[in-house]
Amino acid sequence: MDEYSKEDIVALLNVKGKDILPLISSAESIRKTDRITYSKNAFLPLTNICRNDCGYCTFKKNPEDKEVRILMNYEEIFAILKEADKWGCKEALFTFGEYPDNTAEVKETLADLGYSNIIEYLYFICDETLQKTGLLPHSNPGILKKSELKKLREVNASMGLMLETTSKRLMKTVVHEKSPGKDPDLRIKTIENAGKLKIPFTTGLLIGIGETIEERAESLLEIKRLNDEYGHIQEIIIQNFKPKPGIPMESWKEPSLIEMIKMVAVTKLLFPNTGVQVPPNLNKHNAQVFLLAGADDWGGISPVTKDYVNPEAPWPELDDLKIMTEEIGLFLDERLPVYPNFINETFLDERILDKINSFK
Ligand code: SF4
Repeated sequence: MDEYSKEDIVALLNVKGKDILPLISSAESIRKTDRITYSKNAFLPLTNICRNDCGYCTFKKNPEDKEVRILMNYEEIFAILKEADKWGCKEALFTFGEYPDNTAEVKETLADLGYSNIIEYLYFICDETLQKTGLLPHSNPGILKKSELKKLREVNASMGLMLETTSKRLMKTVVHEKSPGKDPDLRIKTIENAGKLKIPFTTGLLIGIGETIEERAESLLEIKRLNDEYGHIQEIIIQNFKPKPGIPMESWKEPSLIEMIKMVAVTKLLFPNTGVQVPPNLNKHNAQVFLLAGADDWGGISPVTKDYVNPEAPWPELDDLKIMTEEIGLFLDERLPVYPNFINETFLDERILDKINSFK
């Protein structure tokens, strides 16, 4: 089937019993390769201050919290990047909470360093990364204005923003009621502007935060609309919500394995030419099964830094990932933070292209 309506998607997400295996098998067969990719990266959360307060978050801290990181300084960042270089990492993943510079402590620290906002600082760090290391920046700094995306495109191989969901209803629940930046319209606008600017883009959905099956279908169709129009979506992450002690959603259930499998399979059916990733560190015992349902990427795997967003879930060792992949007859291969289809003058600034060419 070339075109899927919302009703088709809902029907597929609702399949039961003997209809589940054919869904999995058609998604798996649509994957054009046995190559399962990952990006060897370093994960750099420049600050954990955020203006939002999502019901599932353990990353965000307030200035008075013990574990707050107001701003990583140049020396800290480049000590990690130097180590990452030694390990042969090719991706420097820069992320932080949304609009952290709305908070006085971050704003003052940036001002002391000579920056008027966090995006200026991020640009400088990405620029230095390009010049002084063998890594390519991939930034995921929350919702952005078009002018900010345009500037950051100069120094990023790709960028990312999880759509999470198109459900506005969740803005009135514990999930997103304190998170103005999780308004789906704002996130769609950022992803759309990235498309207009031809930025290779990673997005994804968060599954199990109270969204309905219909809303999952609508979210997938929205990503499809954006990709059909701009052709810039390189990867879709299907991430399962995980309850964690101390969060407002601590007692919520995570989505079932079958729900996740169906979501991955349907995503691959809708996006045969786009990478589909399920984070392996959040699915330690189930990760392989997603490859059987059409997933084809393990995402960023870091030999040098932990997953600061999910610190309780260490990344698997690369050797383990290789064994997990090969055990089911597929093979593991490293990719860059930008997917091969996007390595061209349409999608990348000349500086990024030159650097990628220097790897050959
Ligand atoms: S936007 Fe991200 S960092 Fe901020 S509260 Fe939500 S999940 Fe946490």
